[in-house]
Amino acid sequence: MEKIVVLGGCGTVGSLMARILAKEYAVTVSDIRKQTPLRGIFQAEGIKLDLGGHNPKIIKEADKIAVAPSLLENERILQLIKGKKIITVQDIIASCKVKKPVVGVTGTNGKTTTTQILKNILRVAGYRVPEHHLNIQGNTEFIPALQARLEGDIAVVEIGTFGKPGEIKGAATDSKVKIAIITNISRDHLPPEDFPKYIECKKEIIDVAQHIILNADDPIVASFAKNLPGDRITFYGIESLKSHFEVFPENRECPYCNKTLKYKRRFLGHLGDYYCTCGYRRPELEVKATQVEKDKFKLNIAEETIKLKTGGLFNVYNSLAAAAASLTLGIDPDDIIRGINSFKGAAGRHEIIKEEPRIILDYAHNPAGVRAIMQLVKEETPGRIIVVNTIASESGIEGDREIARILSNADIIIPASYNARKASEHTRAKIIHIRSSREKIKQGTLGASRRQVEEAIQKALEYAEEDDTILIIGEGGYKYAKDILKGS
Ligand SMILES: [Zn+2]
Repeated sequence: MEKIVVLGGCGTVGSLMARILAKEYAVTVSDIRKQTPLRGIFQAEGIKLDLGGHNPKIIKEADKIAVAPSLLENERILQLIKGKKIITVQDIIASCKVKKPVVGVTGTNGKTTTTQILKNILRVAGYRVPEHHLNIQGNTEFIPALQARLEGDIAVVEIGTFGKPGEIKGAATDSKVKIAIITNISRDHLPPEDFPKYIECKKEIIDVAQHIILNADDPIVASFAKNLPGDRITFYGIESLKSHFEVFPENRECPYCNKTLKYKRRFLGHLGDYYCTCGYRRPELEVKATQVEKDKFKLNIAEETIKLKTGGLFNVYNSLAAAAASLTLGIDPDDIIRGINSFKGAAGRHEIIKEEPRIILDYAHNPAGVRAIMQLVKEETPGRIIVVNTIASESGIEGDREIARILSNADIIIPASYNARKASEHTRAKIIHIRSSREKIKQGTLGASRRQVEEAIQKALEYAEEDDTILIIGEGGYKYAKDILKGS
């Protein structure tokens, strides 16, 4: 068997390159890192390790050297492997065929949870589903294409975007996406002039997939079915509610005539049963939820009531999307129900990390995400809601102000980021400031430092009574809160 050494094999892309190559070759991962959380995975897949530097002897004995993209410009690395045949990530994508069906999930919110529910259904039905085992948010560039090439029967990949044209199409094409899910599209984290471009980006996946699963309750997502034959589309949505949900209404213009849409019923934000005077209306639902309560609903493909471990209307939508894709794949309805019922929830999504007072962690980082988690927490909290807001919106201060307005439904807000502090006058809830939020911290999408998150949580705990819920939102909270609370 040919020997291949993967340089930078402990990184996100490098680790996936190594695992794909290991299906056919004798692979050694070589990395300057001394440790990797993937050690167990590598061992189980027969991959050898050369950590803490690159052993020249191992490199010399290798037939070929695979190099993670981040190291391709590194002079020392290129010197080290001089004369060797190099394998790049593009080489792997070009030469390794995808032989399994691939489901691609895209949309503004709900991608991760929808992906995980669908994987759970497939596992319950007895299929092997590839996992990348990486702790990353937003799967962009090479990750979906590489994940689709890992060992398994059916792949489910999350396809995110930075809003650049061609990005989703490229990732979906490289991943050989056969079935596409579009969960929802929210404008609110973008300046209005950028919204049409963002819609076009999300729509790109339609050019690649054979079958498309669309959220009928989202007027823009549903309009993507225009000019497509009906048998290429499955629409899902909510038919009826049994209990009351706070709606947080948000207006949407008709994608055909630009007039403000009317709603027969609204479920969450801009999602609902809408219609327009021009004749556009919500399409007929094929996979639908009825009698929806906080954590229960009926699915029209089965008799049994579904009971969610993590409730909320947004999780009903995530479950419907996963169910629709499963049906397209020919999965038995009984397995679909069992797969949804046994899903335990995704990390950092309505994750309860402490009780009395209850502390909930949620990765919500845009207005639509905040609306969704507030709707659920409002429904289930006997006491007050105290929000620790670590968000710095991707769309700048307008997004932060919109989030502040949505948080008017909370009782107390503790801004933990500089941006949340700046926008806080736009809320009607009581504000309590911490000292450290005066400092401006923004690294990429991360808006709050560990110190800010820690001070805000301490402040929240001072105010919280037994029945209250502390809701920590944003990437800063997602990154630091569990670790901060470990000791307390
Ligand atoms: Zn219209």
